[in-house]
Amino acid sequence: MTGNPLLAAALRAAGRGWRIFPLAPGSKYPALHGESDCPRTGPCADGHLGWERRATTDPQVIHRTWSHAPYNVGLACGPSNLVVVDLDMPKHARDTPPQQWAGQGITDGRDVFAALCEQHSQPWPQTFEVRTGRGGAHLYFTAPTSTVLRNTTGEKGQGLGWKVDTRAGGGYVVAPGSTVNHHPYTVVHDTPPAPLPAWLLGLLTPRPAPAGVVVDVAAVRARIGRLGAYVEAAVTREADKVRETGEGGRNDRLFASAAALGRLVATGALPEQDATDALLDAGTRAGLGEAECRRTIANGLARGAGGVGRAA
Ligand SMILES: [Zn+2]
Repeated sequence: MTGNPLLAAALRAAGRGWRIFPLAPGSKYPALHGESDCPRTGPCADGHLGWERRATTDPQVIHRTWSHAPYNVGLACGPSNLVVVDLDMPKHARDTPPQQWAGQGITDGRDVFAALCEQHSQPWPQTFEVRTGRGGAHLYFTAPTSTVLRNTTGEKGQGLGWKVDTRAGGGYVVAPGSTVNHHPYTVVHDTPPAPLPAWLLGLLTPRPAPAGVVVDVAAVRARIGRLGAYVEAAVTREADKVRETGEGGRNDRLFASAAALGRLVATGALPEQDATDALLDAGTRAGLGEAECRRTIANGLARGAGGVGRAA
């Protein structure tokens, strides 16, 4: 095992009960195929499985996988019942804190998190801690049983603060023992993860958000309602198909539906913006990301109109 330190790191993480999957050697990106290039064989025989569902603690699978290549170790936080607070470093000299954190000597995520602890009269949490390749920190906590937490990004004004992200359901971290761009991830505090402190849980508990945040569906329906029964039925039909497709085929379905509507757009019967809005709403409700949806819709509409788009 000494000859394969990444296999050892993978087995160590799995031995703690953490579900892991391979990242491309030297990188922080999954080494598993994506939904759009799924061979529909092996673990995907019954439909595509993404990294979160393929993450495992099975030593046999891990031995087999890590015998192929020196993969980095990805740790799927949700299925591992972990919430990881990611304290990042500035990316360049002009990556400085926004107004809220300015003028307090704050230069990185660690400083912001220290300020948060102070604001809430809490100590710096004593828990499993990893130094990241770029010199930031990952603080590992066990997830609460009361609430399902998803990722948060400090940059977008949600979550905890500037350079303070969290990885939970739908998220992964690079596990210790991995090396990204020649910089190792190392354990700096080796102790079982502490439960997520109540004050952090309070800050991270999602507030109810309106469904379908991307588009004003009523406005889209009102516009489509003026287009004539045939076009309206086609839009509704394609949007329904997309919404009802499961994880394995959503992107392909979205592309096919966009291509179908693209033919109507090409005839001038349906404004492209209305087709895009209806499919974007359906696609994001089916669980696809907005950027992926927009790319696939644009490609599908182009294909339907006679162009050469393909699934994203
Ligand atoms: Zn697959």
